[in-house]
This record gives sequence, C-alpha cells and structure tokens, in this order.
Amino acid sequence: MQKLKAEGVCLYCKETKAGAGISRHLTSHLKKIEQEKAVKKTAYHLKVSAGSLYFLHLLVHENLTLSDLDNYLRAIWLECCGHMSSFDYKGQRTGGGGWFDEEEFGIKQGKTFKSVFKGGKKLTYEYDFGSTTRLDIQVVNEYRIDLTEAGILLLSRNEPLKLLCSNCGEKPAASLCSVCYEDNLFCADCAETHEEECEDFADYAAVSIVNSPRTGVCAYDGGMIDTERDGVWQK
Ligand SMILES: [Zn+2]
Ligand SMILES: [Zn+2]
Ligand SMILES: [Zn+2]
Ligand SMILES: [Zn+2]
Repeated sequence: MQKLKAEGVCLYCKETKAGAGISRHLTSHLKKIEQEKAVKKTAYHLKVSAGSLYFLHLLVHENLTLSDLDNYLRAIWLECCGHMSSFDYKGQRTGGGGWFDEEEFGIKQGKTFKSVFKGGKKLTYEYDFGSTTRLDIQVVNEYRIDLTEAGILLLSRNEPLKLLCSNCGEKPAASLCSVCYEDNLFCADCAETHEEECEDFADYAAVSIVNSPRTGVCAYDGGMIDTERDGVWQK
C-alpha cells in the first residue's frame, strides 16, 4: 500500500498545511476577518470529509439550505448520473418511512443551515443509495462574516493525492482499472501496456483518477468547480 498524506492549501495565505492542522489554521484567519468587520449574519465553517484523505473546508451563509450544499457537493465531488442523496443527523436516520417520498428522504433539504446546525449537530450525507459515497459534515466554528458574494466559499480542500503508478512505481497514476483489484493504478505510458493485457480496460474499465472520494465509482469522471485541483498530481 502506498502511504498517502492529506494536505490542503489555505485560501487566504496559500500555504500548504497538513489536513489534520488546517482547521485550526483557518480558524485563525477567520477570527481576524471577523474582528475587522463584524456583520449580523452568521457564516458556518464546515468540514466535509470522506475518510482521512478527502476533505473540504467550506464557509457557508446561514440562510443557505441543505439543498444548496447538496448541489455544491455534487458539483465538486460527486455528480455522475443524477442519483438521489440524503442528509441525516449523525447516528440517526431521520426520514421516517420516507421511501414513498424520495425527495424528502432524510432531513428535508429545504432546511437552512441555521436550523440544522443548531447546537453543534453533526451530519452524515449519502450520495447514491446503490454505490453509496458517504460523507461526514461537521461545524468547526461559526462567525459573523459577510458572505454576500459567495454563498459557499471553498477555504481549502485536499490536494490531489500523490498516487503512484503501480506498474512503474515512478510516475503519477492517471487512471485506474476497475476490473483489476490489485496493482490497478496506471500512468499514461503503463496504461497503454495494460490495455494490451486487459481487454476490459481497453473496452470500458479505464477510469480517470480525479480528486474525489467517488473516483472509480459508477461513471464519475470529475467535478465542475475548482477543476484545476481535480486532476492528477504533478511531480
Ligand atoms: Zn492561511
Ligand atoms: Zn452514477
Ligand atoms: Zn507507470
Ligand atoms: Zn485491468
């Protein structure tokens, strides 16, 4: 197994920080911004994560709804073919028999952040009830910061993971073979070699590596926002 590190670049100072320390780092910037010009509305600093390697730090306006966050998560990390999604409070299923009304499964997505995050509640999110991608959502802190221009601001996200080609072990992996379970990451050159030995790869099983926890799942092939950090890492 390759050892991977989660790292993110700070929106404000452009420094690269370890994933574990970036919450605290962003907090110091946000506190300063709040002190300079406090406003009435609240903005929430959210951490969205999938395991320990994939994370998003977002600043969101209190008046936005879960549906706005759903759209954002789809645009940056998830959307492949319009699957359903749901938000729940962590450790509890909230949609009381909601299957007959699929739109409202889980917490109603028309709810505002203000009402959902009251009392520091944590959420879980699921995209696609078949090949599900699960995310954890928590409030790191809340601020009196004006967010009129951008309802959701991307403070930081994990940089593309430094995955190496499992064949040559030297170059960044750019694709993955979804039918081979071992040593299935390939750089562009080795992908050509693998095409010769694996018919499925040439046919349909080649998946581009993108910066998302949905890499390799369903037909996911990359996001629509912040696309410059969605590709393969550079050596
Ligand atoms: Zn910074
Ligand atoms: Zn899909
Ligand atoms: Zn290679
Ligand atoms: Zn293969």
